[in-house]
Amino acid sequence: MGCSDDEHIVMLPMMAHGHLIPFLGFAKQIQQRTGFTITIANTPLNINYLQSTTATTNSSKIHLAELPFCSTHHGLPPNTENTENLSLDRIVDLLHASKSLKTPFYNLLLDITQKQGKPPLCIITDTFFGWAVDVAKSAGTVNVTFSTGGAYGTLAYMSLWLTLPHRNRNPDCDEFYLPGFPDRCRFHITQLHRFLRNADGTDSWSRFMQPQISESLESYGMLCNTVEEVESQALEWLRNFVKIPVWSIGPLLPPALLNNSSSNDYKQHSSKVPGISAEKCLEWLDLQDADSVLYVSFGSQNTISASQMMGLAIGLEESKVPFIWVIRPPIGFDLKGGFRSEWLPEGYEERIAITKQGLLVKNWAPQLDILSHKSTGAFLSHCGWNSVMESLSQGVPIIGWPMAAEQGYNSKMLVEEMGVAVELTRGVQTSVEGKDVKRVVELVLDKRGKGREMKENAIKIAKQIKASVMEKGGGGGGEGTGSSFKSLNDFVTSLIRRRETTITSDVK
Ligand code: UDP
Repeated sequence: MGCSDDEHIVMLPMMAHGHLIPFLGFAKQIQQRTGFTITIANTPLNINYLQSTTATTNSSKIHLAELPFCSTHHGLPPNTENTENLSLDRIVDLLHASKSLKTPFYNLLLDITQKQGKPPLCIITDTFFGWAVDVAKSAGTVNVTFSTGGAYGTLAYMSLWLTLPHRNRNPDCDEFYLPGFPDRCRFHITQLHRFLRNADGTDSWSRFMQPQISESLESYGMLCNTVEEVESQALEWLRNFVKIPVWSIGPLLPPALLNNSSSNDYKQHSSKVPGISAEKCLEWLDLQDADSVLYVSFGSQNTISASQMMGLAIGLEESKVPFIWVIRPPIGFDLKGGFRSEWLPEGYEERIAITKQGLLVKNWAPQLDILSHKSTGAFLSHCGWNSVMESLSQGVPIIGWPMAAEQGYNSKMLVEEMGVAVELTRGVQTSVEGKDVKRVVELVLDKRGKGREMKENAIKIAKQIKASVMEKGGGGGGEGTGSSFKSLNDFVTSLIRRRETTITSDVK
C-alpha cells in the first residue's frame, strides 16, 4: 500500500462481543495491510477477553490498552463490563456508563502522542461513542466512526433513533415512512424493538442514543462492515443521509471462511464452551445430504419464550428435516443454568436422538464450521449482522426471526432487497405454531420454486463477498484487488493526505 509504518491508530469498540470481534478483525486487517501499529482500548475484562483471542495472531503491532472502569460506580453489578452479562433492560445502563471512558481514553491518546512524538493517525470508535469526536479534536487527530452492522441496518437504526418517526404516524396505520429510505421501504411498528417503540426522546435510551449518534456523524468518516456490491443501494442511501464519507471494508470474517481454506481456523470466541465439539458436529453433518440441514441459532445472547420453544420443537420434528439447534433456557430462566427437558415436548430429546433427525446443542455451537459445511441448507437466525454475513458468505439462505438491535431491519432487507430470506416471526412475544415452522422450513429448503430462487441469490452474494477480499497473488497480505481492500486503501490514503495537508498548513 506504500505507507509509512510508524503510524498509529487507536480503536475503541463498544463493550459487546458482537463489536469487539469485528473491531479486532479490522485491526488485524489494517495492521497486516499497512504495517501500522494498532492499539485497541477497552475496559479491563474486555481486554482480558481480547488478549485470549489475539494470542493466536502473534502480532506485536496490535496492542491492547486497559481503560479503568468500575461497574459498581455506575449502579451496575460487580464485574459487569460487557452486554453479555446484562439483561436487555439493563444494557442502556452500560451504555450510559461507557461515557466515563472519555477521560481515560483521552489520557491514553496523550500518552501515545508523547511516546510517538505525534498524535495517532486517527481514532476509530464505535458509533455509540459520539463523544470521541471531541476527544479526537483535543488530541490533535480525527475520529472515524465504525458501524459493525451493515449499511441498511445502520441507516435504519440511526434514522429511527434520530427522528422517532413512528411517534407521528397515522394512528390507524402501523406502517410509516423512515427518513433516508425511499418511499417503497415502509417500516412496520413490529420491526422496532420495544425500547425504540416506546422511546419519546426523554427516556434513558433516547437520552443516550440521540446525542451519541448525532455527534458521531461529525466524524471524519464512517467505516461500515459491509461489501460495496452486496449493499450498493443501501450504501448510497446511507451516504446521502450521513453526509460524511463511508468506506465499506467488510466482511470482517476469519479469512479461512472466505478463501475455502481447509485450515478452519475459526477461533473467534475463545471464551465460549461449545455444547458439542466441531469434530462431532462435522461427523454428523457428513452423514447428511447436501443442502439438507437446517441450522437454528439466535446469536450470542438471545433466547426465545417457553411457548415459542415448544412451537419450534414441534415444527422441526414435523418437518422431518435434519437440524442442528443451539438451545438455551427460555426467557425468564437463568441462561447459564442447566437445560430442563420439560421445556421441550415430552420425550423430545430421546426421540430426536433415536431417529437421528437432529442435534440439540446446549448454549453454543461451532457456527462457522456448521455454516461452511456442504450439508447446511438454511439458517433460522435472529439476523444479527455477523450471523447474516457468515451465512451469506457461504451461500446459505435465511429464515428470519429478528429480536433486538437492528436485527428487524436486517431481516427486512434480506427479504425485500436481497431475496435470500423469509421471516418466521418477530420478537419473543409472538406465538409460534409448529405448522408455521414446518411451512417456512419446507419453503426455504425446497430445491424448486422460491427455495431455489433464494439459494441462487444467496450463492450470488457469496461470490460477491468472497470477491471483495480477493488477493491479486493469492495468500495473505498481498495486494488486494477486491472492493473491500480497495476501500481500505482509499481510507488509509485519505488519512495520510489529511495528515500531510495538516502538517503543511501548520508550517505555513
Ligand atoms: N456464535 C457461535 N455459536 C453460537 C452462537 C453464536 O459461534 O452458538 C457466533 C456467531 O458465529 C457470530 C456471533 O456469535 O459470529 C453472533 O453475532 P451476531 O452479530 O450474529 O449476533 P449477536 O450475538 O451480536 O446478537
